[in-house]
Amino acid sequence: MLPGRTSKIEPFAIDHATIGTGDVDGTTLSDMSVVVNETGRIETIAPSDTIGIPAHYHRIDATGKYVAPGLINAHVHLFSDGRPLDPDRATPRAQKRLKSLLSTPGGRAVATSKARTNLTTLLRSGVTTVRTLGDIGYEAVALRRKVESGALLGPRILASGPMLAVPEGHGAPLVALTGEGPDESRRNAETNIDHGVNVLKIAATGGITDAQEPGEAGRPQMDVASMRAICDVAHADDMIVAAHAQSPEGVRAALEAGVDTIEHGAHLNEETLELFADNPHALRGYSALIPTMSAGLALTALPQELTGINDIQAASAKEITDGMIAGARNAHMHGVKVGVGTDSGMTFVTQYSTWRELYLLAHYAGFSAAEAFHAATQGNAEILGISRETGSITVGKSADLLVLDDDPARDLRTLASPKLVVTAGRPVWRPHVRHIESIDAPLDTKL
Ligand SMILES: [Zn+2]
Repeated sequence: MLPGRTSKIEPFAIDHATIGTGDVDGTTLSDMSVVVNETGRIETIAPSDTIGIPAHYHRIDATGKYVAPGLINAHVHLFSDGRPLDPDRATPRAQKRLKSLLSTPGGRAVATSKARTNLTTLLRSGVTTVRTLGDIGYEAVALRRKVESGALLGPRILASGPMLAVPEGHGAPLVALTGEGPDESRRNAETNIDHGVNVLKIAATGGITDAQEPGEAGRPQMDVASMRAICDVAHADDMIVAAHAQSPEGVRAALEAGVDTIEHGAHLNEETLELFADNPHALRGYSALIPTMSAGLALTALPQELTGINDIQAASAKEITDGMIAGARNAHMHGVKVGVGTDSGMTFVTQYSTWRELYLLAHYAGFSAAEAFHAATQGNAEILGISRETGSITVGKSADLLVLDDDPARDLRTLASPKLVVTAGRPVWRPHVRHIESIDAPLDTKL
C-alpha cells in the first residue's frame, strides 16, 4: 500500500536539470534544482550551485536532462485502450445489451479494472492530470477516491461520470444518462453530482462513433434551455461543463448555454469566436476549445480496413475532422483558449499518446511546439480551473513533473518517453508502457 496523498512521502531534489517552464515562449532555465517536500509539493526552485538541501533529502542527478510540468489530458475515456471499437456494437440495441451487462456487479468490476489499467498507462506516459468525459458509470469517481486516499498511484482525476444526453442521443445509453427538457436534464446533472463527479459533460450534437445515418454526427441534439439548466447546476457548485459539439450550430448553442469547454469543435465564425472569448454564461466568463485532433485524424488519415469504421462513420469523420482542424486553427489565430485532449479510448487513440495531440496541433493547426506544450500544461490547468494546484513548476504547487531527454518546447516527441514521472510528489521510476504496434506504426507513417 502506498502512502496516502495526505500522509508524508520521501522528500527529494532533482539537481542540475534544465527546466522547461511550459511558458508560451519556450523559456528554459539551466542548471536548476527542483526540491519536493514530504507533502508532495514543490518546496524550492533555485540554481543548483547556490541551493542548500537538507541531508535526508533523496538526490536525483539530472545533468543533461530536462524537467517539465506533467501533462494534463483534458479529454479521456477510460473504458477502452484505443484498439478499434466495433461499429456493430455502437447500435442502440447493442449498446443497451452491453449496458445491462456492465450494470451487474461483475460487469462493474470489469469496467473498474479496465479503467484502472488505462489510468495507469496515462500516468506512465507522463500525464499527471486527466479529465474523463464520458464514463460507463462512476468508475472514474471511485478511482479518484483511491488516488486521493493513497491506495492507488495515479494522476489527479476530474471525473464526469456518464454524459448527459437526449433520449437516443450521442453516447446513449452506454455512456450517458438521458433526459428531455430542462427539468430532466437538471435532474440528471444532480444525479451525477450526487455520485461525486467533479465535471459534467453534455452531448450537444450527434457523434461519429455511434452515428446510424449520414448527417447524424454533428446534428444538434440538446436544446439551449436544457444545456443552460445543466450549466446552472454545475456552476452553482463551481464545476465546469464540457460539451461534445461537432457542427457550427451545435457549438453555437452550447456556447450560448454557457458551456465552459467545447469538445472537438467545428468551423468557427466571427460571432462564435467572440462568444468563446467573452461568454457571460460560462463559469469564468470565457469558454475554451478542446479540439481532439487525434480522434479525428486517425479516422480520416488511415484506410477503413485498418480502423474498421463503416461507410457512414468514414463520411462523417471526414466532414467533422475538416471542421475541427479549421476551428482549432482559427481559434488559435484569434487568441481563443485552446486546450489539449486526445479523446483516448476512441478508435486508434491510445492512452499513452497524449504527446501526439501536441504534435498534431503543431502540424495541422498552426501551433509552435512551445505553444502546444504550454496548452497541455499551463493552458489546460487554467481552463480546468486547477492552475493553483498544477500546470507549472512553481513553489507551493503539487509536484507533477516529468524528467525528459530533450526540451519539449523544441522537440514534442521527447514527451513520448519520459525518463521519470512524478505525480503529487510520488515518483514513477522507469515509466514503461506497453505499446500497441499495430496502432503506432500506421499513425507514425500517415500523420
Ligand atoms: Zn470523447
